[in-house]
Amino acid sequence: MDTIVKIIPCEVDKEQLFQKLHIKPDSRFVEKLDEMIEQALEVGKPKIAYKLSYVDEKGDDFVVVEGIKFTSRVLRVNLEDTFKVVPFVVTCGRELEEWAGKFTDTLDMFFADGIMEAVLRAARNRVFPEIDEEFGLGHSSNMNPGSLKDWPIKEQKPLFRLLGDVQALIGVELKDSFLMSPIKSVSGFRFPKEGSFESCQLCPRKDCPGRKAPYDKNLYEEKYRKK
Ligand code: SF4
Repeated sequence: MDTIVKIIPCEVDKEQLFQKLHIKPDSRFVEKLDEMIEQALEVGKPKIAYKLSYVDEKGDDFVVVEGIKFTSRVLRVNLEDTFKVVPFVVTCGRELEEWAGKFTDTLDMFFADGIMEAVLRAARNRVFPEIDEEFGLGHSSNMNPGSLKDWPIKEQKPLFRLLGDVQALIGVELKDSFLMSPIKSVSGFRFPKEGSFESCQLCPRKDCPGRKAPYDKNLYEEKYRKK
C-alpha cells in the first residue's frame, strides 16, 4: 500500500495548554498567549504520513514488516495476535516550526514551544481514532522507537524507509542522530492490542512530564522476558 499523507486541522486544547505552561486564568500573560495561539492556528499545518502494513515474519525479538526488520522483544510480543501494523510519522509541521523560530524573547520561545507541543498533541488525538476506524484496528496501542531501551532510536531508520521519502511527503527530516526535524514530531507503529499498553509502563524514568501510565516494575518479567 502507498503511504497516505494528510493535513490535519490545526487545533489547540487551550485549557490543557494553559495548565501545562502553569498560566492561571488571571495571569498577565493570558493576552499574549492567546495572541500567539491565534497566530499559530492561522499558520499551522500539522501532517501525518502513514500506511497499512503487514508483518511477514516474527522471531524471538524481531518482526519483519514488508521485508524490513525491526528488532524489539516488546514490539514482537505486542504483535503476537496481529499481522497488521500502521507505521506513521506525525508532525506539528514546518510552517509552525518556522513561525516559532522567529521569536527571540525567552518567554515567547517558551510559549511557542508549548503551542507547537499542543498542536502536535491535538493532531495525534484527532488522527489516531480516524486511522483505527479506517483500517479496522479496533482497540489499539502505539510504540515509538527510542521510547524504550528495548526498541532503540536507531530503529527510526527502518521505520522511515518503510514509509518512503518522509521529508518529501510531510517535511520531516531524519537527522544522523535519529532525531526528527521538526522536533515536535512523533514516529512509531500503531497496532491492534487488547488491553492497554503504554511504553511508559516499562520505563522507570522518574519525574517525566510526558508520562502516560505508571511504571510497572514486574511487567517486563511477566509479559516480555524470553522464556
Ligand atoms: S515515562 Fe517518559 S521517557 Fe519514559 S516512555 Fe513514558 S514518555 Fe517516554
